Amino acid sequence: MCRFAALLLVFVVAPAWAQVVSPLQADEHTLLLYRFDGDGPTIIDEGPLGLHGRIVEGEERRPVDAPERVEGVCGKALTVGPRQAIVPASTPDQLRGMDALTVEVWFRTANEDATHRQRIVLYWEHYLISIFEGGRLTGHLYDQDATNNPIRGHSPIVPGRWYHAALTWDGQRGKLWLNGREQASVRMTGTINAAPGSGLQIGAIGDDWFEGQIDELRISNVARTAFPAARQYDFCRPSETLLVSPGNARMIFDPIVTEGVTSITCTASLGELPEATATIAGDSLEPYADGMLLGHVPLVLDLPEGLVGTMTLHAAVSYEHEGEVVRAALDFPVTVEPTVPPPPVEFRGAWTHSHRIDDPEDIFSRMAAGGLNAAVMRVRRGETAYYNSALGPISNIPFENEDLIEECVAACRRHGIDLHCYVNNFPVGSPDSEYAQQMRAEGRWQKNARGEDVAWLCPSHPENLDLVEAAMVELVRDYDIAGVQYDFIRYGGQEVCFCDRCRANFERRIGRAVENWPADCLPEGPLYDEWMDQRADLITAAVRRTSAAVRAQDPDAIISAAVFAMPPERAKLTVGQEWDLWCREGLLDALCPMSYTADNAAYEETVRLILEAVGDYVPVYAGIGLRSGNQVMRYPEQLAAKINMARRLGAPGFTMFSISPVTDAPETVVIPLRERMLPGDGRGEE
Ligand SMILES: [Zn+2]
Repeated sequence: MCRFAALLLVFVVAPAWAQVVSPLQADEHTLLLYRFDGDGPTIIDEGPLGLHGRIVEGEERRPVDAPERVEGVCGKALTVGPRQAIVPASTPDQLRGMDALTVEVWFRTANEDATHRQRIVLYWEHYLISIFEGGRLTGHLYDQDATNNPIRGHSPIVPGRWYHAALTWDGQRGKLWLNGREQASVRMTGTINAAPGSGLQIGAIGDDWFEGQIDELRISNVARTAFPAARQYDFCRPSETLLVSPGNARMIFDPIVTEGVTSITCTASLGELPEATATIAGDSLEPYADGMLLGHVPLVLDLPEGLVGTMTLHAAVSYEHEGEVVRAALDFPVTVEPTVPPPPVEFRGAWTHSHRIDDPEDIFSRMAAGGLNAAVMRVRRGETAYYNSALGPISNIPFENEDLIEECVAACRRHGIDLHCYVNNFPVGSPDSEYAQQMRAEGRWQKNARGEDVAWLCPSHPENLDLVEAAMVELVRDYDIAGVQYDFIRYGGQEVCFCDRCRANFERRIGRAVENWPADCLPEGPLYDEWMDQRADLITAAVRRTSAAVRAQDPDAIISAAVFAMPPERAKLTVGQEWDLWCREGLLDALCPMSYTADNAAYEETVRLILEAVGDYVPVYAGIGLRSGNQVMRYPEQLAAKINMARRLGAPGFTMFSISPVTDAPETVVIPLRERMLPGDGRGEE
């Protein structure tokens, strides 16, 4: 409780609408604490070791005599320029070899180049917090063997905004936190590397410099699990920053306050629109940590037709504590664009999985309620079927229902949904099964460059190609479905398949033996390009014969493929998937790129490049990450943004991954868009 006495004071004396957070304290776990509030060249360490620091520049570590201090999130912050770093007087033993760790820091970058790596906290081969890989926050932890355990965040860091970053490790799991919320984690045991190394730097004097401001840095020998100051600062987030009008903007408030507060007033506004206000009653606040309370309320703003442009969403909270009014505010830049009307005929699809469906009526009626007209349902993974298949001994029939697909077909027909079945073509579905192990013994699995078996079917084995083909043909032969879709029609990565059969094929292809196997075929090797060609050709050959056989069985079946959403030349090199060729050659009737990225700019760029590559050959139904590993949508405006972009770019449809039968996604995300964005049935016959 006493830790937050200071917090209360700061809040109370703060001017109206200022952004203030509680100062960090040195407690029994603190090793180092820089608050940057003093004057002059010395950075005062308020921790027990007294590791006062200096700001230095370049490899020669020239002292910077008059470092710039500006207003920070809590008192003053220090400006750090290119090739400048704050270095403590020394990096003693206590700062390494720990069995638990927290590094926490506030930062605001001034560098606009998302490809430039910025080291915010740099203790090389011990622990790092960086802006990395497309402007994402990244943490690195190194164990006693100096083994690197990276933790990659997913939110882009925007220049000019303050953020709180924390890297924690409790002896079992390392976690990366952004603004007090966990972003990602990694498993690591042992201790932090105990070797002295090159010493702690805040910022970097080398090539990976940080540029901007640093505030409130604390290093501790315990894994902290709550960051109240960060959560105080980040009390509200917009659900989406690309908005569609007419439509909604939504602000999610979750303010943190000291115990004793009886109500919190939350206000959201956008431009000249009337503001929205809600009050969180004190008795609905939940305990957070250390005598703090957490509230939650979403506020929805109506965006009228005609509202377009770049504008600012403004969020504010105010509450009374011990007779004083406390206020805080945040601004978020947003873009509002007009709703693009749907094309008269539009593929509105969702992927789903047969092994999770025990009530076809339930799942497909809910899809139809959202205006969807297509379902793409997985029914097989390699040798393992999730339906009553005659192919192979492994049919894991979900819920013991031998008529599952027939029932799905009937339910889809009742609700005006086209049912497409999809197959994970090349992965081994049940690697530990006797049958899959038998396939392995027969040389049907792939091998990596070290000659180890990989649980994927090798595309040069004739029986594997028979299986890929027969599985797709069986579906259009035995069931009255709209089409079939290839999925995992590729390799698992770059370093496969190096089996004897693939090698013999390759030597026949180039007309000579490979001198250094497999080195000559690896990325630096002289035969790499030709090897990449053969790899892709093997997959393409599987598509050629399978599509021909499916068409011979059912000329009306739509043949589609779920493919890597990246430039086609990169999909070929990464996983041997030459989907642009398949489209140009007429092997597919539709393409469903798995463009599941949450980032709107990346989504737009990806969908555009795929439409440019093959949009003249086949309809492209842009993938949308509804509930995927890359994006978990909770609000309708998130889906509205992606659908609107797909329509604006000219895509004739979209496919969402995924609507599982147990999800609330139809009710919370899709159905609310029915009237404004998903009218009619998308079949041109309203
Ligand atoms: Zn092979």
